Amino acid sequence: MASPTHTKTPIMTQKIQMTTPLVEIDGDEMTRVLWPIVKEKLILPFVDLKCEYYDLGIMERDRTDDQVTVDAANAIKKHGVGVKNATITPNADRVKEYGLKKQWKSPNGTIRAALDGTVFRKPIMVRNIRPAVRSWVKPIVVGRHAYGDVYKNAEIYSEAGGKLEIVATDKNGTVLRKTIIEVDEPAILQGVHNTVGSIRSFARACFEYSLDQKIDCWFATKDTISKIYDQRFKNVFEEVFAQEYSAKFAAAGISFFYTLIDDVVARMMKSEGGLLWACKNYDGDVMSDMVASAFGSLAMMSSVLVSPNGYFEYEAAHGTVQRHYYKHLKGEKTSTNSVALIYAWSGALRKRGELDGILELIAFADTLEETIIECIESGYMTGDLALICDPPAVKVLNSTDFLDELGRRLAQKLNRH
Ligand code: NAP
Ligand code: MG
Repeated sequence: MASPTHTKTPIMTQKIQMTTPLVEIDGDEMTRVLWPIVKEKLILPFVDLKCEYYDLGIMERDRTDDQVTVDAANAIKKHGVGVKNATITPNADRVKEYGLKKQWKSPNGTIRAALDGTVFRKPIMVRNIRPAVRSWVKPIVVGRHAYGDVYKNAEIYSEAGGKLEIVATDKNGTVLRKTIIEVDEPAILQGVHNTVGSIRSFARACFEYSLDQKIDCWFATKDTISKIYDQRFKNVFEEVFAQEYSAKFAAAGISFFYTLIDDVVARMMKSEGGLLWACKNYDGDVMSDMVASAFGSLAMMSSVLVSPNGYFEYEAAHGTVQRHYYKHLKGEKTSTNSVALIYAWSGALRKRGELDGILELIAFADTLEETIIECIESGYMTGDLALICDPPAVKVLNSTDFLDELGRRLAQKLNRH
């Protein structure tokens, strides 16, 4: 988003009132350190914030046997809009580091599975940071299917090897069985799934997003190799498009384009951007980080999960910025970029404003985003951006000084000194 589209900055005399609570989902490490500071400096002075708080910090997930993650997902189903901080997905090292009961599942995976839907990640573009890919002049939005595939898999390690099979016992008791291979050495096996209903919602979410933004939609899989699994994705997209969207796309002057995943990667590098790239779950995980980094920084990417039932979860696309957190614990200053975290808040507040008809809240979210863009474009930024900006930064700020600078500018814009 180069610059938000609002035209009039509201002059505030009192705090903006909310009617429905936001589901606030806290996380871990450096982003947990920044979260309350973002609220204190940029939101609480202006908004009478109503939130229902869920602590998804790793220790609380461990204490509640991950029930808190399920509760948070249910709260989003109840209230409609959530804002989520980055969380640790524990691996073996984390289990040791935090003395956990077990390697809890990815909280994002759990929430996405509960809400279904598609994650849209859009680079936050500023004039003084040029994408690494020279032809990219407009944002590339990555639409990531947020259900199934490797994120909800079953895996087996077979020490002795043997006959490796997949089996499906359908509702009528019919058993479908296929042999993958027979081997006589240690082997690994993985079973993944998706549902046609979820793929259909994914297709609709992407086509709706394209129409809303008036941008082309590109989709790719590896259907030449995966003749049942990936081909079904291709067919569902083509069916949904033909039956529900082809006339609407023609009227909007945009198009839907299907190709193979390797072909789309090559084409993307030569495109000028300004399109939606619909990705299967794993492709979206990998490609959104590549797109974010090529546009400048993981911290300059907004992310929202849109569920087919009308639930929205806003988050930062990056992780807990672990390396910065260890510096912070040693008492050192960090220059961690909070832009994506702030966009999670502005996105959630804007959506709450839209759903509840609170125009001041929408205008506030626009002004907050505009303040960030202006601040960075005037040369005030964190270290990650200073490394890549042109002309050079006027001032490289640490984590809290950047938030102070934004707070000062925001108050000025909103006529609060
Ligand atoms: P990460 O936290 O995104 O950080 C990777 C690197 O990217 C950082 O070390 C930093 O580079 C740079 N970076 C990311 N965000 C930044 C920011 N806001 N400001 C400045 N630099 C930033 O990924 P990770 O280190 O692979 O993962 C850490 C933890 O986060 C893991 O436990 C993982 O499970 C979790 N994670 C959570 C989510 C989520 O909840 N959405 C997503 C991904 C990962 P430099 O160190 O070079 O400065
Ligand atoms: Mg990822």
